[in-house]
Amino acid sequence: MTAADAATSELSPDRDDAATPESEVRLRETLAAVPAYVPGRPAPEVPGLRTYKVSSNENPYPPLPSVLEVIAASATTVNRYPDMAVTELTQALADFLGVPNDHISTGTGSSAVLTQLVTATCGPGDEVVYPWRSFELYPIVTALAGATSVQVPLTADQRHDLPAMAAAITDRTRLVIVCTPNNPTGPSVHADELEAFLAQVPPHVLVVIDEAYLEFVRDPATPDAIELYRNHSNIAVLRTFSKAYGLAGLRVGYAVAPSEVAAALRKCALPFGVSRIAEDAAVASLGLFAELDERVQALVTERDRVTTGLAEQGWRLPDTQANFVYFPVGEHCAELAEALREAGLVVRQYGTDGVRVTIGEEEANTRLLEVADRVRPRVQPGD
Ligand SMILES: *Cc1c(COP(=O)(O)O)cnc(C)c1O
Repeated sequence: MTAADAATSELSPDRDDAATPESEVRLRETLAAVPAYVPGRPAPEVPGLRTYKVSSNENPYPPLPSVLEVIAASATTVNRYPDMAVTELTQALADFLGVPNDHISTGTGSSAVLTQLVTATCGPGDEVVYPWRSFELYPIVTALAGATSVQVPLTADQRHDLPAMAAAITDRTRLVIVCTPNNPTGPSVHADELEAFLAQVPPHVLVVIDEAYLEFVRDPATPDAIELYRNHSNIAVLRTFSKAYGLAGLRVGYAVAPSEVAAALRKCALPFGVSRIAEDAAVASLGLFAELDERVQALVTERDRVTTGLAEQGWRLPDTQANFVYFPVGEHCAELAEALREAGLVVRQYGTDGVRVTIGEEEANTRLLEVADRVRPRVQPGD
């Protein structure tokens, strides 16, 4: 078993623990309702074939050499705690985005910032409204807070149903999450529909706009959430260095939120969570945005090659504005995922909803096209 396998499989005792007495410790009842996070599986081993992990929406490019140098220099200081206030990154983000620095709260990935957002707003019985299917962390962090998930089904074309989300808001709603582009389905929300939606949300309900894939968006109808944020007092914009910036392994993300909310997020943060290495790498990456953006554009060009190829093969798939494509193939999901696995591509299967494939290395994308062409008559029947 490789280290990656071990990390993604259920833990099992590596020695006989029969001698250990069974624990009677009382755990919170709400934990029973917390679904387990399913990480992307490691790449399969297929004899004679280079395999690819296209299951976690990671950036296939290694860190820029200049970022690696920063990381190496930072590593020499790890005997010290990092700066708890994450001052340099907070200021760099404030300058980059043109917002006051006390409107920014960083965390160990936007996953952690999202957890802080729920902790800061929700207690038992409170409701979190979000689209479904969407990012699998939403039900987990909601349940951990003892709050109640209100999942609003996506439309037939795998987009947010914003009118239905507005209608789902009750007196108990504390948080509404908008995921744009939506993971795992791909479309972004549009400015007009989001404005209309925001006009219906009471000002005491916080709207989280999760823009993990913002840099990959090319649909001109997509709004700039920071602009919306400037004109509303109940929006938190969630962003990450994990995807476009290629720093997933360093765990750093942030929210832009009203100063009162940002201060609450800092209270809910794990002290010293963002490491000095992560902070320095993130600051360096902001400064190298143009260089990193060339890589993002290369991935978008690859995405276009894949989506054009799939359309030519006859696939009818949801629009994608992110670094993945989604195949909503129902009962054929397992068959599609297995065919891709046999071709050396490990992908993410969502039960009988769909299969998500990250845009990765050029060869991985080409292999996706080959497999998709071969299996389409069986997997997308009826034409
Ligand atoms: C990947 C992802 C995140 C962020 O992940 P972190 O690595 O924790 O920053 C947030 N939201 C969505 C929708 C994602 O897909």
